[in-house]
Amino acid sequence: MALAPVPAYTDSRVITHFIAGAPAEATAGRNQAVYNPATGQVARQLQLGSVADVERAVAAAQAAFPAWADAPPLRRARVMFKFLELLNQHKDELAAMITAEHGKVFTDAQGEVSRGIDIVEFACGVPQLLKGDYTEQVSTGIDNWTMRQPLGVVAGITPFNFPFMVPMWMAPLAIATGNAFILKPSERDPSPSLFIAELFKRAGLPDGIFNVVQGDKVVVDALLNHPDVRALSFVGSTPIAQYIYETGARLGKRVQALGGAKNHMVVMPDADIEQAVDALIGAAYGSAGERCMAISVAVLVGDVADKIIPKLAERARALKIMNGMELEAEMGPIVTREARDRIEGYIKLGVEEGASLLVDGRGHQVAGHEGGFFTGGTLFDHVTPAMRIYKEEIFGPVLACVRVPDFAAAVDLVNAHEFGNGVACFTSDGHVAREFARRIQVGMVGINVPIPVPMAWHGFGGWKKSLFGDMHAYGEEGVRFYTKQKSVMQRWPASIGKGAEFVMPTSR
Ligand code: NAD
Repeated sequence: MALAPVPAYTDSRVITHFIAGAPAEATAGRNQAVYNPATGQVARQLQLGSVADVERAVAAAQAAFPAWADAPPLRRARVMFKFLELLNQHKDELAAMITAEHGKVFTDAQGEVSRGIDIVEFACGVPQLLKGDYTEQVSTGIDNWTMRQPLGVVAGITPFNFPFMVPMWMAPLAIATGNAFILKPSERDPSPSLFIAELFKRAGLPDGIFNVVQGDKVVVDALLNHPDVRALSFVGSTPIAQYIYETGARLGKRVQALGGAKNHMVVMPDADIEQAVDALIGAAYGSAGERCMAISVAVLVGDVADKIIPKLAERARALKIMNGMELEAEMGPIVTREARDRIEGYIKLGVEEGASLLVDGRGHQVAGHEGGFFTGGTLFDHVTPAMRIYKEEIFGPVLACVRVPDFAAAVDLVNAHEFGNGVACFTSDGHVAREFARRIQVGMVGINVPIPVPMAWHGFGGWKKSLFGDMHAYGEEGVRFYTKQKSVMQRWPASIGKGAEFVMPTSR
């Protein structure tokens, strides 16, 4: 069957909002360039939203909400099944769109699309997920049950590094549970948001249930301050996550705000060294280190450092860095020139702080792509906890090796860090693995798994400064985040005795 062509506006030179089921022009007249990071050329212009644009989107969402909330969950699930089918038909177009604006290699973008689709599949099970609890006879003649109801208009603010997957952490569950959703995508790679909007529309989602408002802080603040926005999901850097959490909470909203990371991978002396090298290379340099679950610190226990570091250096030097659309590419460009310069600034800082720079990615050139925002893979040894290159999130292809004497020192090091998103331990000792998983103060743990991103039905979230709020993204916590629990207690006249009761009701 021939696929319907992608609508012209999703590939337009000008990227607009999507409100009430149609593309919508921004009113502020502010534009921002969107680049192809592999070439360094401006690819599109993004229209940045205003307070008035947010008001339009919230009004559309608010108007559409009651009928959608009232639709039986099975009907909502059927729209999600259709959306899933369309995503599967168009997944490579989506992946190419991601590579064109983010820069990650095409096969990695396909992986992102696939992990986003997992959550749509989970959301298709919403009738089961919304089932409440029921207790017959909590007291004589009285039954008690719970139901979960949608919140109303909810919003998601997403980062550049997963322009499809992170919106999928939010919108499918928010919508399947009966809410109306407004997405504020990253201004660096906004095109997938309009593609998502188009596919939801084709799937039969009523107009106004999924909206997109493009923009920057102006739009985020307007969403935060709008009284009809009941909940905000945020994924991005820690300072902004904290700001969103504090402001949203003060204004009485439900907020989940996922922040930055500095993920460690501990390599024990009994680990398989070749497996550990493969894991570190993939997890540190995959997606050019622009993943919140990337490994940026290798914690090398005992004599591991001397065995592993020469191998890491050789592999880091040999990385195939090119336009992400080249099929043999292992690493693409950095998302923007500013981000590339920030990463290279950290490499300079690391040298000044006294770390040993074994592989220097600065100034990396790709033939035919001289204007692209490339940097090479960088490897530091002898990094210490006092250094800023250890403490701060670099969010680039820079791996810092820290040497520690034993397992206890490795655990103490990880636990003392202010971030707690992901962590891994490579070992062949079951007891060490068990102790690690129990003692480590980090939200997502991999045992011989370098990037332990939980599956769609488990939920995603770090600890400490990597998550503000108490509900993780997606999984059953996602369902709880987007719904309010109501408890109902019922009896009928035949069970009601005579006379007013003045004592606290108890079970009888
Ligand atoms: P960012 O914080 O710069 O931007 C995230 C979102 O916030 C964007 O939509 C942006 O427009 C908006 N924003 C930026 N500045 C703002 C401000 N001052 N006020 C209000 N809104 C603002 O993050 P990024 O550079 O797009 O993404 C990379 C960061 O995201 C890294 O720190 C990474 O670790 C983090 N991240 C975390 C997770 C996680 O699950 N914990 C997942 C992906 C990315």
